[in-house]
Amino acid sequence: MRALVLERQHELSLREIDLPLEVGPTDVKIALHTVGVCGSDVHYYTHGRIGNFIVNAPMVLGHEAAGTVVEVGAKVTTLKAGDRVCMEPGIPDLSSRASKLGIYNVDPSVVFWATPPVHGVLTPFTVHPAAFTYKLPDNVSFAEGAMVEPFAVGMQAAARARIAPGDVGAVIGAGPIGIMVALAALAGGCSKVLISDFSKEKLEIAGRYDGIIPVDLTKETFAAAIARETDSWGADVVFEASGSAKAYNGIFDLVRPGGALVLVGLPVEPVNFDVPGAIAKEVRIETVFRYANIYDRALALIGSGKVDLKPLITGTYAFEESIAAFERAAKALPTDVKLQILMEG
Ligand SMILES: [Zn+2]
Repeated sequence: MRALVLERQHELSLREIDLPLEVGPTDVKIALHTVGVCGSDVHYYTHGRIGNFIVNAPMVLGHEAAGTVVEVGAKVTTLKAGDRVCMEPGIPDLSSRASKLGIYNVDPSVVFWATPPVHGVLTPFTVHPAAFTYKLPDNVSFAEGAMVEPFAVGMQAAARARIAPGDVGAVIGAGPIGIMVALAALAGGCSKVLISDFSKEKLEIAGRYDGIIPVDLTKETFAAAIARETDSWGADVVFEASGSAKAYNGIFDLVRPGGALVLVGLPVEPVNFDVPGAIAKEVRIETVFRYANIYDRALALIGSGKVDLKPLITGTYAFEESIAAFERAAKALPTDVKLQILMEG
C-alpha cells in the first residue's frame, strides 16, 4: 500500500510499503478518511526520536484518524461496513494487569500507532480492534473524528483534575494540547479558564472561545492575572501544558490552597520544582499519559455541540501533498493549531 513513510530523521517519502491487512475475528478494516498531523509525528520527523523511542527503521506516520469501516471480523457485533468511525491509536494487552485495573494507557505492552517500531495510518487502509474503534455520531464529521485523539488528552487531564462545578482553571501554554485542555476543563465544569502564552497569535485563537481568558505573558505574569481573576485566592486547578521547564518556577503561586496541579506537557529534561511551596498549600499533583476510557465521552461531548473543535483545523492537505503538510507543521507557525491530511475525497 502507498503510505507516508518516515525513512529516517529529516526524510519522508510517499511510497509503497507492506502492511498487514488480515482481519482477525475481533478486528475491523477501515478505509482512512482524515488523519491529523500531531506534534509527535513532527517531532519524529525533525528529531528522529522522542525520549527512548527512536526511529531505527522506516515507519509510517499518523495516529489521529477517522474513516469508514469496510469489513468486520466474524465476532464483531458492534460495527458494520459503512459505519463512520474514529480509532483509539493505542492497543493494550487486554489481559495485562494495567488493563484489568482500567488504566490501559499505562500498560507497558501497549502498541501505539506511529511510535517506533509501530506503523501509523497515513495509508489508505488499516486493521484495528473493534473494541478501540468508535462510531461517529451523524453530526460529527471525519475532520472532527480525527480531532478526538488530541482532545482525549485534554479530557484525560480534566478527568484527572477532578473538576468541581464552578472551578477556575488555569492552563500554562496555548499550543494545541493547551487549548484542548482548556476546552475539556470548561466542558468538565470550570466557570472560566485562563490560558497563558508568549504568542499573541496562539492566545488570539484560544480567546475566541467563550469562557477562555487569554493571558499574554509578554505583558503580565500568569500569577498576577490569576490573582486578579480569583480575588488573590488562586486557581482551583492548574494544568501545565507547555512542557517548558521554566513553567515550574513559581508554579504553586498559581494554585489555591488545597488545589490541584495537573502535569500534561513533557519537558525534555528533569525539572526542579518547589516542594515546600507545594506542601504549604497541600497541592494535589496529578499526571496525564495519553488517555483511557475517554474516547466515547469525547465523542459524546462533540456530538452534543458543547465542544466545537472545527475552528482549530487550520489547514487541510491531500494525501499526495502530505510531505508539504509535514514541512509546514515543522515550521510550527503560531497561527496553526491542527493540520489534517485527507486520504480520500
Ligand atoms: Zn496526537
